Amino acid sequence: MYSCEKHVEIALDEVIDEHEMPPEIELVQSQERISNRCSFCEEEAKYKISG
Ligand SMILES: [Zn+2]
Repeated sequence: MYSCEKHVEIALDEVIDEHEMPPEIELVQSQERISNRCSFCEEEAKYKISG
């Protein structure tokens, strides 16, 4: 799941709910941000969250 800076907490909550495990957060590299959007708005993704 990708999220912008504003929605990272919501994204973390969703991943925790789905996987019931501590999520991993990675910073999205600037060249990848263009092709990956936040799951909650239209901003470019800043973080990648995986469970
Ligand atoms: Zn967002």
